[in-house]
Amino acid sequence: MAIIITDECIHCGACEPECPNHAIYENGTEWSYADGTQLTAIEMEDGSQIDATTTFAPITGGTFGADGNEYFYIVPTKCTECTGFHEEPACALVCPTDACVPDPDYVEEKEELLQKKIWLHAE
Ligand code: SF4
Ligand code: SF4
Repeated sequence: MAIIITDECIHCGACEPECPNHAIYENGTEWSYADGTQLTAIEMEDGSQIDATTTFAPITGGTFGADGNEYFYIVPTKCTECTGFHEEPACALVCPTDACVPDPDYVEEKEELLQKKIWLHAE
């Protein structure tokens, strides 16, 4: 399960540097798979490949009022719940408003999260 940032976010920025996967971005900023990872190319759902440095617009329309244009946001495909790095989600531990919560739209088993961590960091 990925973590999602709700509309309780007060833009303090405490969570962003804590993420081992660089999955957290400030509202309004673009994201890429290459940020903070070893990824060089990504295979898309349609089978095409893109360079991992390709940038994408903030993620919007999540549950709990999540909106990457208004609040810090998490890229679910880069979030591993900190598997392989920490016992608990680091962002949730530092957030002063409890805005980092489990995302019901991205439920994953521990083994899947571990495989995602290996995919991101090649180890
Ligand atoms: S749970 Fe961990 S990996 Fe996911 S966004 Fe928070 S700090 Fe990053
Ligand atoms: S720590 Fe919490 S309040 Fe601060 S930027 Fe992150 S989600 Fe927002």
